[in-house]
Amino acid sequence: MSMQVGDAVSRLSHGELLAIARTKLLEVLQHHAVAAGVRLEFGQRRGVGDVDADLIIAADGVGSVTRTELADQFRPQITTGKGLYLWCGTDFALPSAIFTPVTTEHGTFVAHAYPYAPDRSTFLIETDETTWRNAGFDVTTENVGPLDSDTQSLKYLQDAFAATLGGHPLIGNRTRWLKFRTVTCERWHAGNVVLLGDAAHTAHYSIGSGTKLAMEDAIALDRGVREASSLEEALTAYETARRPGVEYLQSIAARSELWWESFPGRIDMPVDQLMVAYMTRAGKVSLERFAQSAPDVARRGLADYGDVRPDEVPDSEVGEWVLRRPLRRNGFTAPTRVADGSLRSDAGTAVVEVHVDSAWGAAADELIDGIPTASMVWLTGPPQRDAVLTRLDVGERLRQAGHIVVVEAPDACQSDLSAGLVSLRTDLVHIVDGAVIGGALDDVHAATV
Ligand SMILES: Cc1cc2nc3c(=O)[nH]c(=O)nc-3n(C[C@H](O)[C@H](O)[C@H](O)COP(=O)(O)OP(=O)(O)OC[C@H]3O[C@@H](n4cnc5c(N)ncnc54)[C@H](O)[C@@H]3O)c2cc1C
Repeated sequence: MSMQVGDAVSRLSHGELLAIARTKLLEVLQHHAVAAGVRLEFGQRRGVGDVDADLIIAADGVGSVTRTELADQFRPQITTGKGLYLWCGTDFALPSAIFTPVTTEHGTFVAHAYPYAPDRSTFLIETDETTWRNAGFDVTTENVGPLDSDTQSLKYLQDAFAATLGGHPLIGNRTRWLKFRTVTCERWHAGNVVLLGDAAHTAHYSIGSGTKLAMEDAIALDRGVREASSLEEALTAYETARRPGVEYLQSIAARSELWWESFPGRIDMPVDQLMVAYMTRAGKVSLERFAQSAPDVARRGLADYGDVRPDEVPDSEVGEWVLRRPLRRNGFTAPTRVADGSLRSDAGTAVVEVHVDSAWGAAADELIDGIPTASMVWLTGPPQRDAVLTRLDVGERLRQAGHIVVVEAPDACQSDLSAGLVSLRTDLVHIVDGAVIGGALDDVHAATV
C-alpha cells in the first residue's frame, strides 16, 4: 500500500493485499445458498408485508425500506458526511493499493485506489464540497440520470489522475457523486424482522469493513438461531453478540471519515510522516505497533518529525524518543515535547476545555473561533481516551491556524500523545497522573486498518 503526494512516495511493503470483486463474492455466496436449498429470486423488490415467514432477514442495504417502514421500532439515526465521493473503476491492476491526492485549479481530489482482479482496479475519489462546486460537479450531478454515469466528472478525473492511471480510462457503473451516510439503529430486531449489514449499520468506506461487518452479522445470526430456544432469544443473542464489535468499528470509521474529509490540510507533510499520521489517524494502530510492522517507513517518518537523519532514530521505545525531541516552531523553542506546567499560567496561553464530540463539527468551529489569537493554546478536558483523541484532532486544526498547541492527557494515553506529536496534531503534551477511561488500544482489532 502506498501514499503518493506529487513525486514523493511512501510504500508499505509488508503483507499481501487481498481483494475480491463484488460480482465474484456474490457468485460464491449464491452458489452456497443454492447448494443449501435456498430459492433465489432476482429483480423483485419485497417489503415486510409481502413476505410470510417465521423470520424475515432484512439485508436491504443502506437505503433499507424495511428500516424506514419500522423506524418507530428500530429508531435509526442517519448522518451524512460533509465530503463527496465518486466510485468507479479502471481496466488494469494497479501494482498495489494507493492513496494519492491531486490538486487542480478547482481544489484537491484524493484517490483511494486498489486492484481487485488481474485486469481491474477500484478508484474511489473524494473531494470537499467547495472544490466539487468550483469544478461544476453540482451541475453535472443534477443532470445525470439515475441509471447513467456522470461522464463529465469521469473525464475530468481521468485527466487529473492521468499519472496514476497511466493512460487507462476511468469506467463508471451508475457512477455519480454521493455523500456517505452513517447509519446506526437503537434496535436491530422487531418481532420476526431482523436487520443485517448496511441496513442496520454502516462504517465509512475508508476502513474497508462494511462487507466484513455484514458477513460477521450473518454468522452471528446463524449461530443465534441454531442455539436459542425461541426466536426472541435468538435475535437478542445476535444483537448482543454483534453490537460491541460493530460500534467499535463505527467509532474508528467516524474518525477515519473526518481525517479524510480534512486531508488537504496535511498535503505539505513529508510523505512518510503523512503515512504515520494516516496509520494512527483513528487511534486503532499505535505508533509503536506501526514502527514494528513497517520499521523503514516509520523510521523515515520519525526522522522527518525529529529533524534528524533516519539512522539517528532508535529501533525501540520510539514513543519515549518522540517525547524527548526538542521543539522549534514559529520562534518558540522547548527542550522536549513535554510541556512544563508553568506554561499553563503564562499570560500568552489560552487554556481551553474541550468538550466537543468531534473536532470538525459546528461545535468545534465555535470553540476554535472563540480562541483568542494567542501564540499558545493549552487543551484540557475529560480523561476518557475518546476525548483525548478528539483534543488531539482539535489541536491539529489549531496548529494549522498557526497556534503552538499543548494537549493535556492522562499518562495512560502516552502512546496516543506520541502518535499525535509525530502526526502534527500537537506541538507539546502535558501528562497528568490518572487512569484513562474507556477504549484502551486494542491490538486484537489493530490488524485491520
Ligand atoms: C464507496 C464504497 C466503497 C466500499 N468499499 C468497501 C470495501 O472495500 N470493503 C468492504 O468490506 N466494504 C466496502 N464498502 C461497504 C460495503 O459496500 C457494504 O457495507 C456492503 O455492501 C453491505 O452489504 P449489505 O448486503 O448489507 O448491503 P448491500 O450490498 O447494499 O446489498 C443490499 C441488497 O438488497 C437489495 N435490496 C434493497 N431493497 C430491496 C427490496 N425491497 N427487495 C429486494 N431486494 C432489495 C439491493 O438491491 C442490494 O442488492 C464500501 C462502501 C462504499 C459506499
